[in-house]
Amino acid sequence: SKVFGDRKKGAPPVEVLKGVDLAVRENEIVCVLGPSGCGKSTLLNCAAGLESYDGSIVINDREVREPLPELAVVFQAPHLLPWRNVRKNTQYGLEMRRTVPKGDWPGRVKDAIRLVGLDHAVDRFPRQLSGGMQQRVNIARALAVGPEVLLMDEPFGALDALTKERMQEELQRIVAGSQLTVVFITHDIGEAIYLGDRIVVMSSNPGQIRLSVEVDAPRPRGIEFKRSSGFQE
Ligand code: ATP
Ligand code: MG
Repeated sequence: SKVFGDRKKGAPPVEVLKGVDLAVRENEIVCVLGPSGCGKSTLLNCAAGLESYDGSIVINDREVREPLPELAVVFQAPHLLPWRNVRKNTQYGLEMRRTVPKGDWPGRVKDAIRLVGLDHAVDRFPRQLSGGMQQRVNIARALAVGPEVLLMDEPFGALDALTKERMQEELQRIVAGSQLTVVFITHDIGEAIYLGDRIVVMSSNPGQIRLSVEVDAPRPRGIEFKRSSGFQE
């Protein structure tokens, strides 16, 4: 549960999350849908250790009360440092964490950049990158720290349809080739169906989980338009 507002400061309490109960399995992609303002980002920020909450959020038997090393977060805006190239921006997460020995940084950075397909652009600066490429750097920066859990808040929300599709495929490939677990917030139902092993729907006032469905049908690979027989051009 999460209540915003500080009575001491005169702010009225706002109950944003109420009794949210969610278990995420290892190597699963869980997509979270729900109306604007229902508390999706708040839930993610609590799980990331960036926001206080009531109750319990546990990752690997450890209660989340601060950002944990096994967690990484990707927000909608890439927030890259304009004076740093792709390599140095990717390294930034490692510099902040200090959980990985410095000698391992170059290898980690190289692997993360390869995973998001930016090998050819390591020396470029953010202004020389498209929006999709910038978001790839954002994801590489999160992957470089070697997270077990990736929390993503509308990471592809600002991208054009084609780039978005490519990024979705890339994320699936990364998750399939690792033990990575992903919680993925989106407003795009198609994206949730395509990406998610499970889809969770939240309702508002206050945010609660209304529906949790397994997506066990084979994931649709884009939309195929089939012509019915007898169709004339
Ligand atoms: P969107 O889909 O638009 O991103 P969301 O589901 O992510 O919405 P949140 O950003 O989690 O929604 O916000 C949930 C509710 O909590 C909103 O009503 C918002 O106004 C409120 N809220 C968020 N942060 C604070 C805060 N720091 N203080 C008070 N209320 C807040
Ligand atoms: Mg949000």
